[in-house]
Amino acid sequence: MQVFRCAVVVGLATLLWAAPAAAQQDVDWDAVEISVHHVAGGVHYLEGRGGNIGLSIGEDGVVMIDDQYAPLTDRIVRAIEDVSNGDIRFVINTHVHPDHTGGNENLGRMGVVILAHDRVRVRLAGRLPEAALPVLTYSDTATIHLNGEQVHAFPVPPAHTDGDSFIHFRGSDVLHLGDVFRTVAFPVIDRNNGGTLDGTIAALGMAVGVAGPETKIIPGHGVVSSREDVMAFRDMILVVADRVKALVDEERSYEEVAAADPTAEWNERYGDPTRFLTAVYAELSGEAQ
Ligand SMILES: [Zn+2]
Repeated sequence: MQVFRCAVVVGLATLLWAAPAAAQQDVDWDAVEISVHHVAGGVHYLEGRGGNIGLSIGEDGVVMIDDQYAPLTDRIVRAIEDVSNGDIRFVINTHVHPDHTGGNENLGRMGVVILAHDRVRVRLAGRLPEAALPVLTYSDTATIHLNGEQVHAFPVPPAHTDGDSFIHFRGSDVLHLGDVFRTVAFPVIDRNNGGTLDGTIAALGMAVGVAGPETKIIPGHGVVSSREDVMAFRDMILVVADRVKALVDEERSYEEVAAADPTAEWNERYGDPTRFLTAVYAELSGEAQ
């Protein structure tokens, strides 16, 4: 019975993960709206399609956090030129996913220096050309000193993936949390890329510790938020994890856990919880990654 349950859960997770990639091929890239918004100090963020791009803008040039998809690079670069001196010098990848790293190859060929956690390079190395790979990788922290700002990147425990970084723009007091924090959906714990529930909770705790009450938080997807919003997101995960754990301890199947609807009061806000619950159940029931 245990084997059967595992097969169902793994199959479902694979299916759900594959879906967004297939949908990308039908995108009308010219119809994607690109907009840049001021956050605080010298920090802006750019919305297009894919993860929110963080930007430190000033007289020394531009530091980008993530770069969405390759077909958008030209328009993203033009949008950045409109609000800066156009000198894009660095891009930091918050993690490996293609909606955050898809512009790497174009930017790398333009001479932009790409930085990321060691594991981002390892995971990208098999499937992207050399120009798309981070040239400067770190396992501890990296700080770029530009525009009178410290752009401080630091790794967090395996959360959304095993190569997640948070980026703190210390002068402007803005934090970019990549996809560990999102305001538009339940957390995505990508176990295929090393993500974990435990790490997600710990990483969000780190964000709460680094942020102050006035810190602006850029999520991987969604709107600029506060430390309080991150705390509420973490608390939701803790409540759901507690509920699922209690059912796992009673040896309930995934189907039974899903039927108990442990995310009930958040479903309206965050939508379908299946992918989240699948990952939480898998980790708490001790399935191998
Ligand atoms: Zn992601």
